[in-house]
Amino acid sequence: MTTTLTGTIALITGASSGIGAATARRLAEHGASVALVARRGDRLESLAAEIEQAGGTALAVEADITDRDQAEAAVQQVVDRFGRLDTLVNNAGVMLLGPVVGADPAEWDRMIAVNVRGLLHTTHAALPHLLKAADDSPRQVADIVNISSIAGRVAWGGYGVYNLTKFGVNGFTESLRQEVTRRHLRVGVIEPGGVATELASHNAPEIQEQMTTPFYEQTEVLAPEDIADGVAYMITRPRHASVAEMWIMPTDQA
Ligand code: NDP
Repeated sequence: MTTTLTGTIALITGASSGIGAATARRLAEHGASVALVARRGDRLESLAAEIEQAGGTALAVEADITDRDQAEAAVQQVVDRFGRLDTLVNNAGVMLLGPVVGADPAEWDRMIAVNVRGLLHTTHAALPHLLKAADDSPRQVADIVNISSIAGRVAWGGYGVYNLTKFGVNGFTESLRQEVTRRHLRVGVIEPGGVATELASHNAPEIQEQMTTPFYEQTEVLAPEDIADGVAYMITRPRHASVAEMWIMPTDQA
């Protein structure tokens, strides 16, 4: 048995591309009103228009979640518009690879700022609203889904600080789950393997050549929709069932 998302409100960070955009489309298909958060406002506006044309409800919210004030304002804008918040999908992320030795620490700062601090900012701002929805909405349950990575389960050379951020996301997710699950706020993590998105394209050309392009050329990777399906599965469970962790891999990736 699954529950419908009709009447619920979902905020998805990193909704301007890849997994976040696919998740917004999928949750809207399930009936959720979706708030699309990222920095590229033009992308958000065109996705919102596409979702609305298909009969859904979408709100584009341009924000840089590394800035706590902007993250808080984004959550507030969603609650002001829709009256409450049922689902937070912490998806925004960056992956900048390469050896630790001789690395540019500015790349580390960027990953920590988005993957860790950004996730904390939106989570902190959303928690009171999610707990309220878990308490007094018709479904009496609310959800946080954090998009981690296989890199939150396994460490590899060249993934050092990305590993650090995603292992951190896994640990934080489980700690928060234990804190709030009895209040019917479900908190779960999804750990994708390789997905065809823009993620690797932010790396220097030589890193792409050595570390990411060969993998993507040789592997039948996941589509963003495969992860969107995972998010939809998690949040459409009946109230008594919480999916705490979901590891989704390309069949081709060992
Ligand atoms: P994309 O690069 O397509 O998407 C990343 C999203 O994050 C974009 O929408 C981007 O929007 C947003 N983002 C980046 N910085 C900020 C910021 N400061 N404030 C707000 N939004 C921001 O990659 P994916 O879809 O692949 O990535 C989504 C998540 O999935 C990430 O957390 C990633 O680590 C994870 N993941 C991806 C895998 C893959 O193989 N692709 C595998 C495992 C996990 P904008 O630039 O407009 O701000």
